[in-house]
Amino acid sequence: MAVSGGGAALCVSGAALGAALSTLFLGREDRRQELATKDVLELLVRSEVPCPSGGWVASRAAARSRAEVRRVEAENAASVEASGMVNMVGGWQGFSMEDSRKRNMQMQESFKELSPAEVLVKLQRGNARFWTGCASRPEASAFERRAMIMQQFPSSAILGCSDSRVPVEVVFDQGLGDMFVVRVAGNSLDTTTTASLQYAVHHLSVKVLVVMGHEGCGAIKAAGLPIAQIEQEPQELANALKMLKRGLDEQRLKNVHDARAYDREAVITNVRRQVEGLCRDAAIMKKVQNEELIVVGCFYEISSGIVDFFMTGLISGEK
Ligand SMILES: [Zn+2]
Repeated sequence: MAVSGGGAALCVSGAALGAALSTLFLGREDRRQELATKDVLELLVRSEVPCPSGGWVASRAAARSRAEVRRVEAENAASVEASGMVNMVGGWQGFSMEDSRKRNMQMQESFKELSPAEVLVKLQRGNARFWTGCASRPEASAFERRAMIMQQFPSSAILGCSDSRVPVEVVFDQGLGDMFVVRVAGNSLDTTTTASLQYAVHHLSVKVLVVMGHEGCGAIKAAGLPIAQIEQEPQELANALKMLKRGLDEQRLKNVHDARAYDREAVITNVRRQVEGLCRDAAIMKKVQNEELIVVGCFYEISSGIVDFFMTGLISGEK
């Protein structure tokens, strides 16, 4: 595998992939029937060559292909081969609903094996891939999507902001079926958002529950405005802002004079309020005490792409 000494990104050439596939499918028709899917995957994975520029600069599209190939290879290989979907003589065999059902059961088993701490690590690693420009952008194959029809197994649930700059699956480099997402302006708890998260915890058995605020949150800024100004907004919006305002502890925030520090402190204060709200749910706290669930707050910095996790005191059993 070609990597730079400095640990820079892998270089994968889209042209090389195209050439490799041409060799497979166009130039050697006589062997086409003999090629198994895993041979194609192996070739795709190996098609890594130095960039003409001399450096090891990743081609995002090709890197995505490589990452997806690895994901498919790792997650599907066992079930695919066991079900006879790949035949070394006949090539790709397609898949049946029974194959999909088996794959769904494998997904469930994989989900059961994950600990809450491992899920949190998965999110942190995904965010590191994102902010370092090495996101894998996992996209499930047709087989994986088919298998997901029967049941979902998201390992985490997140309460995030509706802000267009904070798409959580992108920020954590997660794929279809990985995260149960609730997004609302100001990432706050109300009847609907609380109910959605309760469903994720009690019926989907997610292992990490995240509340994520973010840099430059317009909802939190607006909640800091004078009441008279807030009340000029449409009624429901004004009510939502007043609810956020009640949790901001504005007397304390008055001591923060730097604008960016104020922004961060206000957002983090709101995240703490929402986490505290979740932790007033006795059933959620029982899961935390039983080390079945981690509840954690975090702050997403738009400018860097980095997510800072905090409030680790609520991690399984440590409260
Ligand atoms: Zn926001």
